[in-house]
Amino acid sequence: MDNLREIISYLKGKKVRFADAREHLFREREIATEDTRVEQITEQNVSGVGIKVLYENGWGYASTSAVDLDSLRRTADKALSLARYADSSAAGKVELAAEPKHVAKFATKIKEDPFLVDMSDAAGVLIQAGETILKGKDIIKAGSYLVLRNIKKKYANTEDSLIETDVFTILPQIEATAKANGEVKSRHYWPAPMNAGYEYFRGLDFRANAERIAAQAREHCFARSCESGPATLILDPEHLALTMHESVGHPTELDRVLGYEESCAGRSFATMDKLNTFKYGSEIVNLVADNTLEGGLASCGYDDEGVECQKWHIVKDGILSGYVVNRELAHRMKMPRANGTTRATKYSDVPITRMPNLYLAPGGKPLTAEELIADTEDGIYIEGMGSFSIDQMRLNMQFGGDAFWEIKKGKLTGMLKNVVYNAISYEFWRSCDAIADERAFKRAGFITCGKGDPMQAAQMTHGASPARFRNIMVRRAK
Ligand SMILES: [Zn+2]
Repeated sequence: MDNLREIISYLKGKKVRFADAREHLFREREIATEDTRVEQITEQNVSGVGIKVLYENGWGYASTSAVDLDSLRRTADKALSLARYADSSAAGKVELAAEPKHVAKFATKIKEDPFLVDMSDAAGVLIQAGETILKGKDIIKAGSYLVLRNIKKKYANTEDSLIETDVFTILPQIEATAKANGEVKSRHYWPAPMNAGYEYFRGLDFRANAERIAAQAREHCFARSCESGPATLILDPEHLALTMHESVGHPTELDRVLGYEESCAGRSFATMDKLNTFKYGSEIVNLVADNTLEGGLASCGYDDEGVECQKWHIVKDGILSGYVVNRELAHRMKMPRANGTTRATKYSDVPITRMPNLYLAPGGKPLTAEELIADTEDGIYIEGMGSFSIDQMRLNMQFGGDAFWEIKKGKLTGMLKNVVYNAISYEFWRSCDAIADERAFKRAGFITCGKGDPMQAAQMTHGASPARFRNIMVRRAK
């Protein structure tokens, strides 16, 4: 931290309006298995310092993997010269939302450091899962994937904040593929990725889930095709994770709303004139952003602008009520403070507005997942994530899934195949007429959310209880 303080003091002497310096270690280990062998183990350790400078109304950013003081000074000079150059053609005044000074530390609560456990332990568990899958009838392939990640940051800025964070992330998954009845179908077990220690991985039941997905992959091969037409859908938490990510999370990032960021289907229909009036969903729909969620993938204590992580509503009682806002754009919403969601993936990346942990709040009335299904005369229950697409404004969307079950007279009667549904994003959320209560709440999430140019991959948690959507246009995909 001493070198970072030194650089901040050096930049203060250069009369910058604001500057910060971030020492950033990104460590990741990936283990992939195929059938009963390890296919690949990779490990990356990427570390360095990124320095951001606001000079008058121009921003500059520069980074270095060499962290000695001379290199940092040269990097600070580079960021400053870029900021001066940007200022010479600045479009307008930069207003930076205030943030209290923070001298703080944040760390994921872990019992067992995953990087201190021999990798043969995890590889052994995954290979055993593969053996179990391959015992399934008509199974032709087993696979698995595990990501262990640790991000350590030290942060200092010209407002005298000094912040240290240490975040651990685990993402496991296994897959079974069956071939039967002229079809090839895969089924996945995706336990929620978590910010957690290795004890989380140890607590997962791969054996039972390996047996389950092997049987369901085969059953999927014998499933009948769905009918095309309007249908009632019950969507499980894992499936809803992707739906809310694409149709709520991305379109409410304010940099996208205002047109500063347009790559990766990057614009938005959820414009600021709609704030606090637009009916984004039915009145039971509450979508909550929460970077204070314990174990949430985006829970990091403080973001890369020195702003403390927070919790707020994106959609409250069905109405659009918030955005994801950085310090530079907060004044556009007359917000006195940003909401702590600006993050960079690696030291060389410029911090950008990133989706927070975002979840669909459980329903307020007592309702289990089983009671929700029992209350549904005719419909389709969709589990997991499949292919999807969404347009540039985040309006027209189409989703598949990992498994589909027919509901008849309140009971799951068998699997369906080739199910996709189309909707307009806000019409989809408006059609939500029931959400199971907190007993059925589950998490899911991503570590590969792509944004920016050059692209950065970020991580965030989603969550939901199973929810019902009426009158959704289902189409047979084949
Ligand atoms: Zn994304």
